[in-house]
Amino acid sequence: MPSRTDAPLQVAIVGAGLGGLAAAVALRRQGHIVTVYERYDFAGEVGASLSAASNGSRFLEEWGVDVKGAKPVILKQLIMHEWSNGEVQSTYPLGDYKSKFGTDYNNFHRIDIHQQLLKSAFELPGDGPKCELKVNFKAIDVNSESGVIQFENGVEASADIIVAADGIRSLTRNMIGITPDFEMSTSCCYRCIIGADKLRSLGLQDYISNEAIEYWGGFGINKIVMSPCSNGEVVSCYCFYPAAHNNVRDDGWSISASPQQLVDTFPDLDPRMRTLMMNAEDIKMWRLYKHQPYPYWVKGKVCLLGDAAHPMMPDQSQGSCMAFEDAGALGLVFHKNFRQEYSAVQGLALYEKLRKERATRIQEASFKARENLNERIGWSSSTDRPGKLTIEEVCGYDMREHLAQLVCQQNTT
Ligand SMILES: Cc1cc2nc3c(=O)[nH]c(=O)nc-3n(C[C@H](O)[C@H](O)[C@H](O)COP(=O)(O)OP(=O)(O)OC[C@H]3O[C@@H](n4cnc5c(N)ncnc54)[C@H](O)[C@@H]3O)c2cc1C
Repeated sequence: MPSRTDAPLQVAIVGAGLGGLAAAVALRRQGHIVTVYERYDFAGEVGASLSAASNGSRFLEEWGVDVKGAKPVILKQLIMHEWSNGEVQSTYPLGDYKSKFGTDYNNFHRIDIHQQLLKSAFELPGDGPKCELKVNFKAIDVNSESGVIQFENGVEASADIIVAADGIRSLTRNMIGITPDFEMSTSCCYRCIIGADKLRSLGLQDYISNEAIEYWGGFGINKIVMSPCSNGEVVSCYCFYPAAHNNVRDDGWSISASPQQLVDTFPDLDPRMRTLMMNAEDIKMWRLYKHQPYPYWVKGKVCLLGDAAHPMMPDQSQGSCMAFEDAGALGLVFHKNFRQEYSAVQGLALYEKLRKERATRIQEASFKARENLNERIGWSSSTDRPGKLTIEEVCGYDMREHLAQLVCQQNTT
C-alpha cells in the first residue's frame, strides 16, 4: 500500500543542547512526532553570551520562539580597543542591520535562549504535537539501517530518522563510522560573567550601554571579546590566550578558575578590563579543538547536526547559528508533504547537500579568524580579499532559495 503523503515521521533526537532543541522545534512544526533523548538529568547551558546573527535569529523568529522572552541585547556596533590602554581604535556600526538582513543581531545569555527553546519544544501549544523529553537517556549504540538506538539505562527506541545532536564529542558520529580528525588548538579560552550593578559600582557602566561586541587584541592568539546580554543585566567575556600557558590537564566546559588566575594571564592588558576580571563571577576554562571537516554527515537513517557535524572555533560567533540553520534545513526538507517528493532517507541526503558546503566554509573561516580579527564577518568586506567570508553571505543567506535550486538540479539530472 503506498504510504500516506502526510504521514508524520517518528524522529529521535540525541542531545538537548541548543542544536537538538532547535531541531525539535523545527520538526514539531511540520507535524512530526519528536522525542529528544538527553544523557543528563537536565539539559543545562553555561553562563555565557551567545550572539545570534540574522541567519540564526531568522529561524528562531520563524519558529515562534519567544526571542524577546530570552532578554536579548540588540547589538548596534562592533568596537575594537587597543590592548594595553583600552583606547577605541575603530568601530563598525551595524546601522541598518535589521532592514538589510530582516532581524536584529541578538545577543543572548545562553541559558535564556535554551529556556525559550525548551518551552517551544515541550511546553507551548502551537504548530504540531509537543515533543517529548527523556532525560537520563545516554545513547550508547545506534543502528543506522534499522533506526534503533540503545541507551545506557537498558531501554531501546526506534525512529524513522535519528538526529545526532550530541555535541563536539559526539559518540553517534563514531557509531556511523566517522573517526574525527582533530587536534588541540594552540588557543585556550576563559569565559566569565559580571553583573551590571557590579560594573556600575566599578565605574565601568559604558560596557553595558555601548550595546556592542567589544574586542581587545585579536591579532595573534590573545583576544578579549566582551558583550552585554540578559536585557543588559549581565556582561559576558571570552578571553583567549595561548594554550601553552595552561597547566590544566582537565577538559570540558566547566573547569573553574579564580579571578587572580584570569588577571595573571593578561599582565599587560587595559587596566579597566583587568578590574572587570578581578571582579568577575563564574570563571571557567574552555579548551579549544580544531576539527577537520568530516567526509559525510548522513548514513542511512542517521544525520549529524550542530557541533556533532561541524565543530568550529568560536571566532565567527557562528557555531549555534549553524546549528539553528541545520535545524531550519531539516524543517524545510521534511515539510508536511515531503513524501510526495522523496523518501525520508533521500530527504536526509538532501539535508547534507544543503548544509555541508556552507557549514564547512564557515568552519574554515572560523579557524582563520582565530588569530586574525580582520577575517571576522563585520570587520571584513568582500573587496579586501577575494573569497573571504562576508557579512552579506552569512547574514543575508536565503536557505529556501538554495534548497529550491538543489531540488531543481536534482529533478533535471
Ligand atoms: C568560547 C565559545 C563561544 C561561542 N560563542 C558563540 C556565539 O556567540 N554564537 C554562536 O552562534 N555560537 C557560539 N559558540 C558555539 C556554540 O556554543 C555551539 O556551536 C553550540 O552550543 C552547539 O550546540 P549543540 O547542540 O550542537 O551541542 P551541545 O551544546 O554540546 O549539546 C550537546 C548535547 O548532547 C548531550 N549528549 C552528548 N552525548 C550524548 C549521548 N550519548 N546521549 C544523549 N545525549 C548526549 C549533551 O549532554 C548536550 O546536552 C561558541 C562556542 C565557544 C566554545
